[in-house]
Amino acid sequence: MGTGVLSAHFPRVGGAIHAEDVPLHAIAEAVGTPAYVYSASSIEEQFGRLTGALAGVPHRLHYSVKANGCLAILRALRDLGAGVDVVSGGELHRAIVAGFTGEDIVFGGVGKTERELREALRAGVRLVNAESLAEVLLLDGVARELGVTAPLSLRINPEVTVENAHDYIKTGERGQKFGIPYDEALDVATTALALPSTKLIGLDMHIGSQLFGLDAYDEGIARLLDLYAGIRDAGGADLRILDIGGGLAVQYSDERPPNLERFAEIAGAAVDGRDLELIIEPGRFLVGNAGILLTRVLYRKRSGGKEYVITDAGMNDLLRPSHYKAYHRIEAVEERGGRVTADVVGPVCESGDFFALDRNMQQVSPGDLLVIQSVGAYGSVMASNYNSRPRAAEVVVRGAQYAVVTERESYDDLVRREMAAPEWRTIA
Ligand SMILES: *Cc1c(COP(=O)(O)O)cnc(C)c1O
Repeated sequence: MGTGVLSAHFPRVGGAIHAEDVPLHAIAEAVGTPAYVYSASSIEEQFGRLTGALAGVPHRLHYSVKANGCLAILRALRDLGAGVDVVSGGELHRAIVAGFTGEDIVFGGVGKTERELREALRAGVRLVNAESLAEVLLLDGVARELGVTAPLSLRINPEVTVENAHDYIKTGERGQKFGIPYDEALDVATTALALPSTKLIGLDMHIGSQLFGLDAYDEGIARLLDLYAGIRDAGGADLRILDIGGGLAVQYSDERPPNLERFAEIAGAAVDGRDLELIIEPGRFLVGNAGILLTRVLYRKRSGGKEYVITDAGMNDLLRPSHYKAYHRIEAVEERGGRVTADVVGPVCESGDFFALDRNMQQVSPGDLLVIQSVGAYGSVMASNYNSRPRAAEVVVRGAQYAVVTERESYDDLVRREMAAPEWRTIA
């Protein structure tokens, strides 16, 4: 595994890691630790790379809010021209608070409630990506009740082989819970075409996350296009959106970044000559390497011949290592010389609370600051209060300036919704 600083936006300057032009120890002093620190320029750069590669292809990027739903990041992406992809009523609310309007929003998710479908239609979203016939029928009923036409897209499971790091982030293989099984899709579409309050305007897939190769996109799109032809033959003249989901990978260690030119070729070929507009739902690609988790070493310990580095961040702040066996680079903010092989662990009372196992890393002492890299996606959004640990602050850096965009939770926040002496009620 590689060492060194992964992103140009978190450079080591004069021996100390910075976020853009701001020294991380200054942020730690001002905001405390643990804290997520994001680079605005990194997000802009990734957005620019992807839109640049897709310049010749009619498309819109709908950022996947579930990767990082922080309002300041949503606003920054809105200002760049992105739309969003949301998978819950809560994410829809976030998107609207951040300033997105209905046309900017694609609503997906395998288990939408009737309430969420109503909220989506009230907000006037651009697309609802439905994942079953039952959901299509429910959507049509809700639309009728509201007196609107539901903009329907069908999320299809293209049943392709997906190569990525972990089974938990595959979503487009046969038998998974996501999407409409491929061999049922034409029937569902035919039913949808006959519904009074629904307009079938799109087809959608999302085959997985952190995809190493692009072949699965190619195969998935080919299956969607076969279906597209079938639906057009069955009278689906309004079908004009092809949503190919997210999944573009980022570098966590030494992986090769995705070939965006090849991706644009595949995407471009899909819509070329077909009167189709492309939607892409990148999450991780836009924000994954734009964020680090800043944490302080609390203790060093040796147990059973093993070295431990105990940090003030825990699995409640970053779940990916224990949930997906994910690899994150870890660097000392200021190098003190020497190396050690250690488990880097948090304070949570779980043996699964670790960031790295048997990691060869820079020597560190209590009080030193560490950077856990590449936590911009699926980091803060998966944070919990387990062990009654307040959730960490979030900071965005732009050049020489920083802003706290999410306050650290207080102890009072932890108990705000609870009643030690509740009001007891009797069922009448
Ligand atoms: C998670 C998800 C995405 C984003 O995936 P990334 O791998 O972060 O790009 C896009 N679309 C849907 C429907 C998702 O569930």
